[in-house]
Amino acid sequence: MQSFSYSKAQTLDQATAAGGRFIGGGTTLVDLMKQGVETPKMLVDITGLPLSSVETQPDGGLMIGAMVRNSDLAHHEAVKAQYAVLSQALLSGASPQLRNMATTGGNLLQRTRCPYFRDPSYSNCNKRNPGSGCAAIGGHNRMMAILGTSEDCIATHPSDMAVAMTVLEATIHVEGPKGKRTFEIADFYKLPGTAPNVENALEPGELITHVTLPAPRKGSKQVYLKLRDRASYEFALASAAVVAETSGGHIRYVRVALGGVGTRPWRAHEAEAALMGKPATAAHFRAAAEAALKDAKPQSENGFKVELAKRCIVRALTTATA
Ligand SMILES: Cc1cc2nc3c(=O)[nH]c(=O)nc-3n(C[C@H](O)[C@H](O)[C@H](O)COP(=O)(O)OP(=O)(O)OC[C@H]3O[C@@H](n4cnc5c(N)ncnc54)[C@H](O)[C@@H]3O)c2cc1C
Ligand code: SF4
Repeated sequence: MQSFSYSKAQTLDQATAAGGRFIGGGTTLVDLMKQGVETPKMLVDITGLPLSSVETQPDGGLMIGAMVRNSDLAHHEAVKAQYAVLSQALLSGASPQLRNMATTGGNLLQRTRCPYFRDPSYSNCNKRNPGSGCAAIGGHNRMMAILGTSEDCIATHPSDMAVAMTVLEATIHVEGPKGKRTFEIADFYKLPGTAPNVENALEPGELITHVTLPAPRKGSKQVYLKLRDRASYEFALASAAVVAETSGGHIRYVRVALGGVGTRPWRAHEAEAALMGKPATAAHFRAAAEAALKDAKPQSENGFKVELAKRCIVRALTTATA
């Protein structure tokens, strides 16, 4: 690991003016530094910033500070009661020890688990080394994405929390040298396209300060279902987050997002359109799942994800409308 300087910011201005790389819980960044994937010259510790509160908003929504630890958020009373999909997604991720360290901002910005990205002995990774090619295409790609891929990158977005925040239509608030900005989560993450090294809308020096969630939809049910190789401490092969409201056996409101299959947290608009106003039946759930995966582009080793993701959607919808 190469040497770097370290400072701890006491104020937001200090943090954004420092010009270094922010470190929250460090559970992603320190691993990548040890592996030589990330080589920041300056670390700015932001854990001392006053961004650790979770507050109900006057409009009934929720404000989540960027420094709120994943465990604290998952077990927060308002989150458990009103945003169950978020609590479930957080508790399905990593391990208790990691969740105790990991922060909301860091979780949103965690980087892909693509093994070629994380091993600098492979030179061909467009995300790490732009223009060098993609070792995963034609290589080992069982865990890779099937939605939103490009000819330059097929890496899966790894976060469970971000999938739940996508289905909850979160807003991400950032502050940087040029002031404050907000992003709908749908606009925050970039598709890889021809520049997979650009993963989100942040500009240099911009810090995520907090996330806001709209008031929960009254009468809706929320579910996060994660399918993986083992029951805990494993990333998703496919996951589905669902918020659904039914009346008279028909779907009146539905939001669906997928994890483990997309190059970014994947909002399944096609599934939602296929479900709106329809009877909440297995046949309609299956039709929605087919619509969600119609543009899937599997690689040599991950064709199984197409059917797995469909079944994941059907089961999550069945639970959310039961
Ligand atoms: C063994 C293992 C298993 C895991 N399993 C899962 C899993 O199943 N599901 C899952 O979703 N995740 C999983 N994770 C990932 C884990 O959730 C992330 O490592 C964690 O959420 C990152 O948060 P952090 O605060 O430690 O981020 P850090 O490592 O501190 O930072 C991550 C990145 O975000 C930047 N950053 C941090 N905070 C801010 C901010 N406020 N503003 C701007 N930039 C910021 C940093 O500069 C860095 O680039 C796993 C991790 C490990 C090590
Ligand atoms: S999938 Fe993306 S991250 Fe993985 S090797 Fe290819 S370019 Fe790199």
